[in-house]
Amino acid sequence: MAKDTAAVHAGRMSAQHFGVVNTPVYRASTVLYPDLATLEAGNVPYKYGRLGTPTSQSFEEAVTELEGGARAFVCPSGLGAISFALLATLGAGDHLLMTDSCYGPVRPLCDRVLRRFGIETTYYDPLIGGDIARLMRPNTRAVFCESPGSLTFEVQDIPAIAAAAHAGGAAVLMDNTWATPLFFNAFEHGVDISIQAATKYVGGHADVMIGYVCVNQANVKRFADAQHDLGLYASGDDCFLALRGLRTMPVRLARHRETALTLARWLSQRPEVSRVLHPALEGDPGHAIWKRDFRGSSGLFGVALKPCSHSAFAAFMNGVKLFGLGYSWGGYESLIVPAHITRSVRKFDADGPVVRIHAGLEDPNDLIADLEQAFAAMGAAQ
Ligand SMILES: *Cc1c(COP(=O)(O)O)cnc(C)c1O
Repeated sequence: MAKDTAAVHAGRMSAQHFGVVNTPVYRASTVLYPDLATLEAGNVPYKYGRLGTPTSQSFEEAVTELEGGARAFVCPSGLGAISFALLATLGAGDHLLMTDSCYGPVRPLCDRVLRRFGIETTYYDPLIGGDIARLMRPNTRAVFCESPGSLTFEVQDIPAIAAAAHAGGAAVLMDNTWATPLFFNAFEHGVDISIQAATKYVGGHADVMIGYVCVNQANVKRFADAQHDLGLYASGDDCFLALRGLRTMPVRLARHRETALTLARWLSQRPEVSRVLHPALEGDPGHAIWKRDFRGSSGLFGVALKPCSHSAFAAFMNGVKLFGLGYSWGGYESLIVPAHITRSVRKFDADGPVVRIHAGLEDPNDLIADLEQAFAAMGAAQ
């Protein structure tokens, strides 16, 4: 079944809900048992709100099918999904290899929380490929990837990294939020544990915080136990919104992709721009691997501006009218934010400010006109 079809049909349970197309919002803590024997046997589909409802089950089943994994676990946010995956995988004395291009807040998670539990993190060059074998230690239990990287958009050679990780007995975890399972099939490329900040494209409307982890068969028991033990939960309302967003994700992503490419090509011709960071552009250093492994590109990319005064930069950022200034992305609206790049292994080369753009669902010509007038304001402030 094509992914677009799966996005429409997966995880539906209309027959159990009077034919209603969408699984309704179940708000529950207590679930009542008909008698003592049933309670003691415990073989009912829903036991207690925290342990799952039809709404969370619909969402988990839908994303499992889209990912092509064995089972998915809903989490309270994307970062919550990352911390859940790392805590489920690692223990005291273990070593973690973390890409230097990871989503920023993952660093304090490694450097504060995991360190406190006796887990050591080594950051690695996102472009290391199969040479990651040289960083593997006997206690390396996990290799964490994100491709393209947050803010800098380096494309990782996931199959080469996965082969080296597996040879050393480590699990491969990947933050696949940029591509979603529609544009990068994590499990086909050697990933064991696929993580999604569903806050972004799955939700798609800038109004829900949610995440999930989808695992292969070998990790189902470990992750089911960890979810149970950690008490992770997402509300029925949030599962409902995420599932509602998922149904239209393929059509939204197609538009995000086209508009981002239009903006990226236009920006790369601008005199104010030194480099556009978008792996689907022919000249991008990650283009060859992106083309080999990905089925599409999404709406998020970076722009390195030529050196300019801070007041000129401010005139540009304050000059845009259709692009909102704010964090997160993946909603229907266009966004722009300054990129604060933290790297410990490979310094990112930029002598001017770097911004991150999310191309929304507006008409691309209006977005270009908006950027054009913001560049004019920038020129006037130079
Ligand atoms: C936003 C983001 C996250 C975190 O998701 P939240 O739902 O905001 O916690 C994780 N990874 C990537 C790549 C992100 O962009």
